[in-house]
Amino acid sequence: MTTAVSKKVCLLGDFAVGKTSLVRRFVYDLFDDRYISTIGVKVSRKTVAVLREDELLDLTLMLWDLAGSEEFDRVRASYLRGASGAVLVCDLTRPDTLNGVHRYLQELQEISPDAHAIVAANKLDLVQQPPVGIRPALDLEQVRAAAAGLGAPYYLTSAKTGDEVEAVFRHLGQRLVG
Ligand code: GDP
Ligand code: MG
Repeated sequence: MTTAVSKKVCLLGDFAVGKTSLVRRFVYDLFDDRYISTIGVKVSRKTVAVLREDELLDLTLMLWDLAGSEEFDRVRASYLRGASGAVLVCDLTRPDTLNGVHRYLQELQEISPDAHAIVAANKLDLVQQPPVGIRPALDLEQVRAAAAGLGAPYYLTSAKTGDEVEAVFRHLGQRLVG
């Protein structure tokens, strides 16, 4: 017999870092190059099998994804309340998005102090093969140091290729039941 558990996970990060794209990749295994604007809050869910003390558990991740920062200011408390975990997303091509990660984690901890966080440094594909005009801006060491400072694991992801997207949600899921 497997036990079923459900947990709320918030996607957090600046505008256009790839929050919606990561959820889309993880839940539907799809990617779209166009900007898919999130209207209000969208909740998607996906069940993953995780281990808790030798027992196999069906963990349903309720993935909360929110539109731009104006929206966030308005609904912040209700968005973050009851969250067991968060994926903090930054964009490897925009160094300033790493500051957002710190800010969002602070806000999360004020409202849901026990929540677990994981960092997804996204758009790895653009850093590996920069198209003309795009320069990789964040280096691995910056990301590693920031994540270490936050006490959070981190992954270099690409919602486009799917690189490490599963790993982010699985690792977080494992922490949520551990
Ligand atoms: P959000 O505002 O954080 O939800 O960002 P979106 O998921 O809407 O993504 C913003 C833009 O970046 C869209 O045009 C996406 O197609 C693009 N994008 C997101 N993730 C990646 C990625 O890993 N690689 C590349 N090349 N583009 C991405
Ligand atoms: Mg979005």
